[in-house]
Amino acid sequence: MVERFTGSFTQQGPIPETGIAAALDVLRHGRLHRYNVTQDEAGEAALLEEEFAAFIGARYCLAVTSGGYAMATALRAVGVQPGDRVLSNAFTLAPVPGAIAAVGAAPVFVEVTDQLTIDLDDLAAKADQADVLLLSHMRGHICDMDRLMEICRDANVTVVEDCAHTMGGSWRGVASGRHGIVGCYSTQTYKHMNSGEGGFLVTDDAEIAARAIMLSGSYMLYARHRASPPAEAFEQIKYETPNMSGRMDNLRAAILRPQIAILADQCERWNARYRALEDGLRGVPGLTVIERPNDEYYVGSSFQFLLPGWGPAAMEAVVAGCLDRGVELKWFGAPEPAGFTSKYSSWTYANPAPLPVTDRVLAGLLDMRVPLTFSVEDCQLIARIIASEVTRAQEAGLAAE
Ligand SMILES: *Cc1c(COP(=O)(O)O)cnc(C)c1O
Repeated sequence: MVERFTGSFTQQGPIPETGIAAALDVLRHGRLHRYNVTQDEAGEAALLEEEFAAFIGARYCLAVTSGGYAMATALRAVGVQPGDRVLSNAFTLAPVPGAIAAVGAAPVFVEVTDQLTIDLDDLAAKADQADVLLLSHMRGHICDMDRLMEICRDANVTVVEDCAHTMGGSWRGVASGRHGIVGCYSTQTYKHMNSGEGGFLVTDDAEIAARAIMLSGSYMLYARHRASPPAEAFEQIKYETPNMSGRMDNLRAAILRPQIAILADQCERWNARYRALEDGLRGVPGLTVIERPNDEYYVGSSFQFLLPGWGPAAMEAVVAGCLDRGVELKWFGAPEPAGFTSKYSSWTYANPAPLPVTDRVLAGLLDMRVPLTFSVEDCQLIARIIASEVTRAQEAGLAAE
């Protein structure tokens, strides 16, 4: 019998009932704008920021319209100017170089390793080319953050973290987003909290926080924030900083607040599914599972594996064979960008230089989403399907092409 999977790779779980109830309250009173509050009301957006700051252990937090907006705002707030260069991962998703472009800056792409993290030797070699690194913890893979911070300290490079795939993750006990000067998160539907669209940035730096709040469109209402620096921090900044509207609203904040309390649990649920995939695929001939370091607490909301040295025909055969059986894999080496997947060489506006290591890694890289609507048994079934399709392509002699 040929096994098939019938679940949806894009179906996330529901919003918690408490979030639905809170959203209905906001809809009933009608004060959706974050600064539209009554005398003794903080507002959902301000409370969300306060609660997320406490959860992640940061002094300041700003909630905004998207993860991409959080990153662009962070870059502006740390002082990136049009024409500057910003170091970033070659292996990431389009909103990351997009955030650099939004500021009028140009990315300097750094190679990826076989562990799918930023190549620290290549970073060290390029560190003199920019003052800022926008570090993307792409697909939840966290590099040796101690060494990365050392390289960046030595080269005077400011680190801004893109934690779209590591919200809830950590390196040696330090939460992802708390190594760099600013941590950015996304609450878009496919990430670890779901408000449709949305994002956060966190920092301990009062000046950066004040700039980010002004940039997000606070007008002179910044005192209505709670996870924010005192009014003195805004004294000059309020004149110097343009308003680039990107505020979180009370409706989405109401949906998000109860999701903070369940995040740690959700991460464990993702990891149980991730381990089922890992167990089912480790040892399949021709296939390499990405071994995760003990220092990393990852969130397995997506799964990657390598078919090292396989040619395009073999990669396409595996993708097609799996899709036929209901398993949606994304191939990062495909010549044409498709769906949510594009790679550095297709971002031609950034004029990317060729990166041979990244090309080699991406040529053999397959990726899939793991929504929490999948059970652990579903993941065992998915692993069996992938294993059999990889074996079939291997036995057909395709892999050697
Ligand atoms: C989703 C994503 C973002 C930001 O996403 P938004 O859709 O703007 O919230 C940033 N980086 C990575 C790697 C992402 O996948």
